[in-house]
Amino acid sequence: MLQYNSKQKIIAQTINSDTSLSQWRDWKWQLRHTVRSVESFEKLLGVQFDHDEKSTLIKTLSKFPLSITPYYLSLIDTDDYKNDPIYKQSFPVISETLITDHEMKDPLAEDKDSPVKGVTHRYPDRVLLQVSNTCAMYCRHCTRKRKVGDMDSIPCTEEISLGIDYIRKTPVVRDVLLSGGDPLLLSDENIDWILTELHNIPHVEIVRIGTRIPVVLPYRITDSLIDVLKKHPPLWINTHFNHPKELTSSSKEAVRKLADAGIPLGNQTVLLAGINDCPEIIKKLVHQLVKNRIRPYYLYQCDLSEGLDHFRTPVGKGVEIMERLIGHTSGFAVPTYVIDAPGGGGKIRVMPQYLISWSTNKVILRNYEGVITSYTEPTDYDSITCDRNCDTCKLNTELDDASEYKAIGIEKLLLDWDKTVSLIPEDNERISRRENEH
Ligand code: SF4
Repeated sequence: MLQYNSKQKIIAQTINSDTSLSQWRDWKWQLRHTVRSVESFEKLLGVQFDHDEKSTLIKTLSKFPLSITPYYLSLIDTDDYKNDPIYKQSFPVISETLITDHEMKDPLAEDKDSPVKGVTHRYPDRVLLQVSNTCAMYCRHCTRKRKVGDMDSIPCTEEISLGIDYIRKTPVVRDVLLSGGDPLLLSDENIDWILTELHNIPHVEIVRIGTRIPVVLPYRITDSLIDVLKKHPPLWINTHFNHPKELTSSSKEAVRKLADAGIPLGNQTVLLAGINDCPEIIKKLVHQLVKNRIRPYYLYQCDLSEGLDHFRTPVGKGVEIMERLIGHTSGFAVPTYVIDAPGGGGKIRVMPQYLISWSTNKVILRNYEGVITSYTEPTDYDSITCDRNCDTCKLNTELDDASEYKAIGIEKLLLDWDKTVSLIPEDNERISRRENEH
């Protein structure tokens, strides 16, 4: 039988002495009673900030709003709230107002790689479509602070339609990521409309949704929402658990419903100083995730967004965590550690090095235990030189569009049919000298 825990009961009854358990589990009730001020935070959690602290906290809220669902609030350990990972992710600190020289409003250049409002087209075959800019809980480490929570830039139906039109007219797009804000804060009808439109585009092969709802408002995963999501396979969902403490019975129930509906689940964790920058915490998190049928997908280095310096760890911390996961636990429980390139280059994998050296006949590798080993290359490998003529290729691939493939980046240097011998930055002085001399 479902029951309140004691903290939930206190919070629910402080909001309204008549609050029932079914109201507490109603996502719309949760949204109506979201904590948006320092005063209501104090009242509901039974804590008190001193006068100076309170006025500096209020200052930060003009930069990025406060929003904590009563559910997420109930996870905070009141006895030691200042060290609590839930508190630190959801409650402001004055450091957010300090902007260092290397921080940017839009570090991933999402707005520059935007062919139409709300669409980021960065990678060759996939786009991000921003369908919402509100969230149930505003993460203090959010990389899209420039947009999220700004009531003046909520994407309207016309804007979303324009984004869908762009996708319709762009046949290379086979994968669409719905993002925000949080797409699952839209109504069931709107979600159904967007998914239907996208699935009616023949070249769109898959749709993904990025959401923090199972973590901060699990009651939003209602049976009627599941019915909508189930109608549109193949649909993938990536969620955002950062700490094992976030895997509660309610969030587990939400992800169980999604997994039972046949939706593959992934998780993106942001590495955050003072919150989860410990190999043991991340190991516990990934074990909890796989136990609940969620595949750990990315471990993100915190972006260079304005006011996030206090959340950032050295990259070495992330590599250390990966070193302590790879080999030490199941391969599918190990996320990929990435840095999203400042300036918009996309995700770059940053992993420990396992390939130590190589010769024509052997490669030298090391494993997680420090064992150094050699792998002998094949003696009679029949190398295939690709001329993009699949009709005559012995691999019998029968690809009919290989000759139209346009190579980019490092791939160009590796291809047999591309004559590029080097990639040279635009402002290379040596090359400019050459050009000036001739
Ligand atoms: S849920 Fe995502 S978009 Fe929303 S505040 Fe958190 S990090 Fe930002």
